[in-house]
Amino acid sequence: MRCIVPKYSGFCFDVSVAVKTAYENTYGDTYMYGEVVNNPVVVKDLESKGLTLVHDLDSIPKKAGVKVLVRAHGVPESTVKEIARRGYKLIDKTCPRVKRVHNTVINASNRGMDVILVGTPGHPEINGVLGWAKTKVVLIQDLEQAKAVIPSTIFTGKGVSMVAQTTHNKKKYEEIYAYCSSLIPNIEFHDTICDATAKRQSEIRYLARLSDGFIVVGGKASSNVSKLYEIASEHCKNIQQVETVKDVDLTRLSAVETLIVAGGASTPDVSVNEIVYAVKNYCASYKIPFETGKNLFFHNW
Ligand code: SF4
Repeated sequence: MRCIVPKYSGFCFDVSVAVKTAYENTYGDTYMYGEVVNNPVVVKDLESKGLTLVHDLDSIPKKAGVKVLVRAHGVPESTVKEIARRGYKLIDKTCPRVKRVHNTVINASNRGMDVILVGTPGHPEINGVLGWAKTKVVLIQDLEQAKAVIPSTIFTGKGVSMVAQTTHNKKKYEEIYAYCSSLIPNIEFHDTICDATAKRQSEIRYLARLSDGFIVVGGKASSNVSKLYEIASEHCKNIQQVETVKDVDLTRLSAVETLIVAGGASTPDVSVNEIVYAVKNYCASYKIPFETGKNLFFHNW
C-alpha cells in the first residue's frame, strides 16, 4: 500500500492563528464563544487546559476583566455590539476571508442591492454573514434549491450581489452562479471561496482519481471537511469520513493499493498522523507492504 497525505492537509494559516490565540488565553476569565474551529479534538483539548466554551453570552459572568474569543467563522454584527455593550474585551479571531464576505455583503447593502448567499443553512459562518446584511438575502444551499427558489423570487434591490460561504464546493458555486446569471441580468459575482479551500479541493479532486482508498479526517460539523468528502467521493468509492483514528474501519483497506489520508483546514496534524500509524500497524499485522516515503508522507504533489 502506498499512503499519501496531501500537501495541503491540516490547519490553514488562519485556523493556526485562531487556535494559537485560543491556547494563549486558556487562563483567567476568557470564554470561547462557540467552537473556535469545528474540530472536537481541538476544542476538547482547549477546554481541558482551562478555556470555557459557551454558546450564548448570558452564560458568561457579568464582571470586569472578561474576555470573549470569537471563532474563525465570525459572528453577526449584533453579537459584536452586545459584547461591547456588556463591557467584555473582544478577542476577534474571525478569519480575514470570512470578514471579506461580511464586507462584500455590507457593501452590497450600502448600494441597495439584494444578496444571494450560497452555503449551508445553520452553519455558524452563514449565521454570521446573515447578521451583517441590511437588505434582502436569499440563502441557497445547492443547484437544485436554486432551481426551485430563484425563478419565483422577486428581487427589489438595485441589482443582486452573489457571495458564497468561504468553504463551499467551488465547482458547485460556479454552477449555481451560471444558473442564476441566466435568469438575473444585473447580478454581480464575488468569488469568496478562500484560497485554502480552493487549493485543498483541487488537490483532493486530483488525488481521489489516483486512489482506491480515501480517509477524510476532521470534525463532523466542519464545512470544509464535508466538502472534501463530497469531492473525493465523486472519484473514489472506498471512502470514509472520520473524526479520529477510533472511527476508522481498517478492514476496508486490506486490498487498497493507494490510500489518501487527508485532513481538512480545521484538522490538527496529530489526528491525521494517528491514522497513518494505525494503517501502518494494520499492514504490518497482515504482512501488507506499506510505503510511507522519506518523512512518512509523500508531500510533493
Ligand atoms: S478555511 Fe478559509 S475561511 Fe476557513 S479559516 Fe481557513 S482561510 Fe479562513
